[in-house]
Amino acid sequence: ELFGGRDAPRDAIGVLRRVFGYSDFRGSQQEIIDHLVDGGDALVLMPTGGGKSLCYQIPALVRQGTGVVVSPLIALMQDQVDALNAVGVRAGFLNSTQDPETRRVVEAAFVAGELDLLYLAPERLRTEATARMLDRGEVSLFAIDEAHCVAQWGHDFRPDYLALSALHERWPAVPRVALTATATEATRAEIATRLKLEDARHFVADFDRPNIQYRIVPKNEPKRQLLKLLRTEHEGDAGIVYCLSRTSVDKTAQFLVDNGIQALPYHAGLDAATRAANQSRFLREDGIVMVATIAFGMGVDKPDVRFVAHLDLPRSVEGYYQETGRAGRDGLPSTAWLAYGLQDVVQQRRLIDTSEGDAAHRRRLAVHLDAMLALCETVECRRAGLLAYFGQKVEGSCGNCDTCLNPPKSWDGTIAAQKLLSTIWRLHHERRQKFGAGQIIDILLGRLTPKVTQFGHDKLTVFGVGTDLTEAQWRATVRQLLSQGLLGVEGDYGTLILTDASQEVLGRRRQVMLRQDPDRLPATSRSDSS
Ligand code: ADP
Ligand code: ZN
Repeated sequence: ELFGGRDAPRDAIGVLRRVFGYSDFRGSQQEIIDHLVDGGDALVLMPTGGGKSLCYQIPALVRQGTGVVVSPLIALMQDQVDALNAVGVRAGFLNSTQDPETRRVVEAAFVAGELDLLYLAPERLRTEATARMLDRGEVSLFAIDEAHCVAQWGHDFRPDYLALSALHERWPAVPRVALTATATEATRAEIATRLKLEDARHFVADFDRPNIQYRIVPKNEPKRQLLKLLRTEHEGDAGIVYCLSRTSVDKTAQFLVDNGIQALPYHAGLDAATRAANQSRFLREDGIVMVATIAFGMGVDKPDVRFVAHLDLPRSVEGYYQETGRAGRDGLPSTAWLAYGLQDVVQQRRLIDTSEGDAAHRRRLAVHLDAMLALCETVECRRAGLLAYFGQKVEGSCGNCDTCLNPPKSWDGTIAAQKLLSTIWRLHHERRQKFGAGQIIDILLGRLTPKVTQFGHDKLTVFGVGTDLTEAQWRATVRQLLSQGLLGVEGDYGTLILTDASQEVLGRRRQVMLRQDPDRLPATSRSDSS
């Protein structure tokens, strides 16, 4: 018998030491565990790697009966169960990948009281058959992992999770714990409401990752900028490079390989065997750079990831936090680097416009994007902005992000914004024309390009009124006006349009403050890296 007989004290700290081989609890693990062992409900917010699993695994071992764990990560269930079995914990799982016979064996073990932990995919709990099976055994607690999946407001909503509100109605006496690594205050409130956890105790861990240095740079030649980062700061280091599309994953990985870096691609378009092989090389070998879409990373636990680089803008701050959080799990200095440009804003806005779902859904996506853009354009501490998103305050500045290390200046861009917006206004109202950023900037800079002459744009009164700024400064201005909602974009070609807020700027009712991009760019030249 695992615990030395039925009467051996099943105290939490004893289980931690004897079963899991750790000497002490971390953070608020002990408090959470005590609360659950006593039969209380809990909502646990803890960053990835914080040690959420033990918060329900230990109570499940201490309490009488089986702990039922709801998890959407079907691909990880086998590993989790294997790891538990290896330390002598009786665990099983039920999901759609199993054949009926295997499922029956697990169900029988549960009903016979032979399991300490049972992992279930959320869709299982929607069936009456599963509910009846749970009634036939003894459930010690329900743990709802990745609980943010219940929140429509969040970024990872899964409809199957909505059915979990029924747990409380059907088994009111069984304590429940919902756990997530990612939840803003709004998402947290929605989790509590939807899972009927209003009266649960909330445990919110410290989300700060002081060893991660946050940097967000203007994007001009992203692959070259990335290569420079790797060569100057992360030679031979393991890291993850996130790209939005499969094509850019493939191209970027190839580019890095061509430049002597051990890079591998990972995205849903590769066959399962290749994906598994690449992931396992990344985990086992030193110094592999994984170039991936966001399909990569869930449940990947590699402590010495020294950098996470984003070549495209994440869709939300939560996503950004989650992805950058894969760096530096070992606590050693690590870099979170994001290259971000005008095209990202245009592209993401377009993705939202063309996304499936109703208007409310698109509005939510837009709010998520706006928060991400605000983080990119802030002149204040990135860490403070990031943690504020999770309801956490940072005193003063962190000293370990680009804005703290190299404070950007802000400048009054009201006049520049007026020049830009009135150019767009004139084109539209005088000529019924709409153009993208390139043409507008050529007009402002007074460039006699073929396209300018063809459309007679050199005859406009605004032609050449913007020579006080460089092209890069104009692009930064467009980008920031888009980010601030003072300018809109539409269609496949990213044509610029005015918004209601643009009128306030044109009508001199609104001042526009802009972030000054650092001028040490672009430092990469084609000759220094090939
Ligand atoms: P999360 O689910 O929050 O991402 P895990 O539960 O997977 O995190 O834990 C992350 C790592 O930390 C695991 O390797 C786990 O074994 C380890 N860990 C958790 N709690 C402790 C502890 N009290 N002492 C030492 N290691 C711990
Ligand atoms: Zn800072």
